[in-house]
Amino acid sequence: MRKLLVLSFFIVFLATCEQDDALKDCDEWITICSDTTMALDPSKANRKVLIIGIDGFRADAMQESVSPFMYGFAQNDDTYFTDQNHVQELTFSGPNWSSLCTGADFCKHTVTTNGFGGNSLDVFPHFFKYLEQARPQKNTVSVVNWTEINEDIASTFADYAPTESINDNEVFTIANNLLNQGSPLVPDVLFLQFDELDATGHDYGFSPDVVEYTDYIATLDGYIESLMSIINAKRLNGEDWLVCIISDHGGSGKSHGGKYDNPNVRHTIMYMNAPGVNFKQWYTSSQTDLAPTVLDYLGVESAEFNCKTDGISVIED
Ligand SMILES: [Zn+2]
Repeated sequence: MRKLLVLSFFIVFLATCEQDDALKDCDEWITICSDTTMALDPSKANRKVLIIGIDGFRADAMQESVSPFMYGFAQNDDTYFTDQNHVQELTFSGPNWSSLCTGADFCKHTVTTNGFGGNSLDVFPHFFKYLEQARPQKNTVSVVNWTEINEDIASTFADYAPTESINDNEVFTIANNLLNQGSPLVPDVLFLQFDELDATGHDYGFSPDVVEYTDYIATLDGYIESLMSIINAKRLNGEDWLVCIISDHGGSGKSHGGKYDNPNVRHTIMYMNAPGVNFKQWYTSSQTDLAPTVLDYLGVESAEFNCKTDGISVIED
């Protein structure tokens, strides 16, 4: 019993050390973002957003022979695409999904583990918070396989963010029901996260040369093509949609944690697609750019968010 107690103290001590270590290169951050003014662009009030998140997407595995839809989508005139989107220095899920959702660097949201202990997500919240402040009638939805995203980042602010454990195929089915039937509600902003590519990478290897890994990308490519056909039908019906495809980190060998010096881990994909919108050219995005881009597209300008974010909108002024 005593041994166990000593051991558990030691584990807590180790975990604390790891966190202190990660934060030691962070400049001290003082929250002085007291201006909560919002400016809304009414001409963008009806716009909608679909975010497709894929865990553990190594960028060079996105190839014409593997993922023909994503390959073509990257060449589309209405698409911003980079295969060098910068991930956070802590190259695993917790810090990166947090930066994608908050627009803030891990030094600020202080998610330094996949356990989310000691985080500052109340100070650097999910971008849903600003959308709900700006237009509370809008439906913000988050459907994820890795439930930590909803439990720790999204559920406080989202209108619908289930925390039951579901697999990727269920994420896809729920997305179809939301978009096609408006069930259980009609999403204005829909965030999806698929997790099984990461698991495949850990089991077999994150590589374009690993058939299990590329086979699963092909499965996701089918999901994305199918979701895009729904969005395109809505666009033909007069709805304006921004579609983003993002990932939290790449991978190398059978892992990705602690490999920031490896470009196959440090870089991943980022897509932004919206007809008639000009995106920045020759610009390489980072995880923190997703949230400012979404808010910009939706015509929501928050002084508080702008003060806190480390990202910029990929949309050209
Ligand atoms: Zn991950």
